Amino acid sequence: EEEKRKYVKGKKLGEGTYAVVFLGHLRSNPSTRVAIKKIKVQKEYTEGMAPDAVRELKHLQELQHPNIISLLSVFSSKDQNLNLVLEYLPLGDLEMLIRDTDNVRYGAADIKAWMGMLTRAVWFCHENFVLHRDIKPNNLLIAADGEVKLADFGLARSFADPHRHMTSNVITRWYRPPELLFGARYYSGAVDIWSVGTVFAELVLRAPYMPGNNELDQIKLICESIGTPTEDNWPGVTRLPEYTVPGQHPTRGRDWYEMRFGIVGTDGVDLLIRTLALNPQKRITAREMLQHRWWHSEPKPTRKDDLPRKD
Ligand code: ADP
Repeated sequence: EEEKRKYVKGKKLGEGTYAVVFLGHLRSNPSTRVAIKKIKVQKEYTEGMAPDAVRELKHLQELQHPNIISLLSVFSSKDQNLNLVLEYLPLGDLEMLIRDTDNVRYGAADIKAWMGMLTRAVWFCHENFVLHRDIKPNNLLIAADGEVKLADFGLARSFADPHRHMTSNVITRWYRPPELLFGARYYSGAVDIWSVGTVFAELVLRAPYMPGNNELDQIKLICESIGTPTEDNWPGVTRLPEYTVPGQHPTRGRDWYEMRFGIVGTDGVDLLIRTLALNPQKRITAREMLQHRWWHSEPKPTRKDDLPRKD
């Protein structure tokens, strides 16, 4: 209740599937603007559960990093609604830049800068035992100084407890890794790395890399674009609860990736291939990504103030 009183709610900024977002400001300092995100609560979400969710989200408040959106406060209102008070980022998201091919031009150095910021954000989450679980261009917001910030931890859960039973119905389909599509119930930070890889590919193509129409179609696209998961390349995969594959496609070779993603150079292509490893155990980790030689090869990443932005 005191938390709630610290902020003044203003006009509606937008509405997503799970939330309505309002502009707001600090009561004590009206020049400090914030975004207040009111989570739409499902009916089965009964009495007493909002405080649980508040507690669960509280630990995200401690996750402070330049590439992660600041969660300033969390409170529940009388109607059991969850309210998240967030850093106000009015310059849109990476999806808007990727799609605006008429007005926004960017190249390899810009992609490297954005990927660097995304990788540091994911590394920081994983170091702190937090999975993001919904990485996609629409959740990468842009700050006034050009910094990209990972947002929307709506699905974030602590993975400190390795035996915690987790649902596999997370992550927007196009960015969802094969282990989740096959119904794996125990998963790791590797799920986020797959999403990072699909965002990397999308930045190059300026279109979603594997835009599946449904879960089966998603698996088909992965088999065609990357290769069919088999006992050979992924021991144990056929025992996952929902393992089904449309046919046997060989794993794509380096030259196939060079043909499509060559603008990020040989080192960039190498990193992309490692993020899109079918077997989550063989997939590169965020920490290993930061040690990759791509960051040091030419061109150097664009300085954040020089990055393209919407006007
Ligand atoms: P979606 O994921 O569909 O964009 P959200 O509920 O996350 O839905 O957000 C709805 C809209 O609110 C966004 O499209 C954006 O315009 C605005 N918005 C969300 N978060 C912020 C923020 N931190 N700062 C400024 N605007 C925001």
